Amino acid sequence: MNILTFGPNGSGKGTQGAIIKEKYGIDHIESGAIFREHIKGGTELGKKAKAYIDRGDLVPDEITIPMVLETLAKSKQKGWLLDGFPRSLAQAEALDKALKAAGMQLDYVVEIVLDRQIAKDRIMGRRLCANDNNHPNHIAFDAIKPVEKDGKLVCRVCGGALSARADDQDEGAINKRHDIYYDDKTGTMAAVNYFKKLMGAKVLSVDGSKGIKEVSALIMKQLP
Ligand code: AMP
Repeated sequence: MNILTFGPNGSGKGTQGAIIKEKYGIDHIESGAIFREHIKGGTELGKKAKAYIDRGDLVPDEITIPMVLETLAKSKQKGWLLDGFPRSLAQAEALDKALKAAGMQLDYVVEIVLDRQIAKDRIMGRRLCANDNNHPNHIAFDAIKPVEKDGKLVCRVCGGALSARADDQDEGAINKRHDIYYDDKTGTMAAVNYFKKLMGAKVLSVDGSKGIKEVSALIMKQLP
C-alpha cells in the first residue's frame, strides 16, 4: 500500500504517519527528516540544505527531488507513506512521472485539513526525540506529553533526549512554511489538488482539529 500524506506543519501529519507505519508495516519516508539526518551527519547535501531549512524556505528541487525519489526506489517494505513531499506543483508532477515510470501505484492520498492559526499554535510545542523521529512528543497534548526525568523533559516512548527544531521556534520560518503550504497556485495545496484530480488513488480528507486518537480513527476507518 502506497500513501501520500498532506497537512500543514503542525497538523499532526507526522504523528499520524507514525501510527499508519506501525499498523501496516510500511516505510515512513519523511523528506524533512531525511534532511535533518543529513545535517546531523554533516554531509554535503546537509550543508547545502541547512540555510534553506532554517529560514523555512523550500530546499531547491534539484537537491530534493532526486533525494526523495532515490529513497522511494530503495524502499524494501510492502509499501510506503510519503510525508513532506511533494510540497509544490512541480514536485507533484515529478513524482507522478517517476511513479508511472517505475510502474508504482499510488493507493491513497490522506489530507489532514487544519486552520492556519491552529497549526501555527501547535508547531511551537512539538519536540523531537534524539533516538527516533517516529516518537511523537508535544508539550500541549496530554496523549503525547513528554515525561519528566531528573527535572528534565524526556521522550515519553523511550526516555531519549528531546529538542525543539529551530525552524519551529521562529515565527518568520513558520509563516513562510505555511505560505508555501496554503498556496493553491504553485505550492502544496496545488500539489494536493493535482493528486485529488488524478484517477486511481482514493482521497481521504480528515478534520485535523480533533484529538490524535479521533483523527487516527477517521483515517483508519477508511484504510483497509
Ligand atoms: P518538515 O520536517 O516537513 O517541516 O521539513 C522541514 C524543512 O525541510 C522544510 O521547511 C524545507 O526547508 C525542507 N523540506 C522538506 N521537504 C521538502 C520538500 N519536499 N521540498 C523542499 N524542501 C523541503
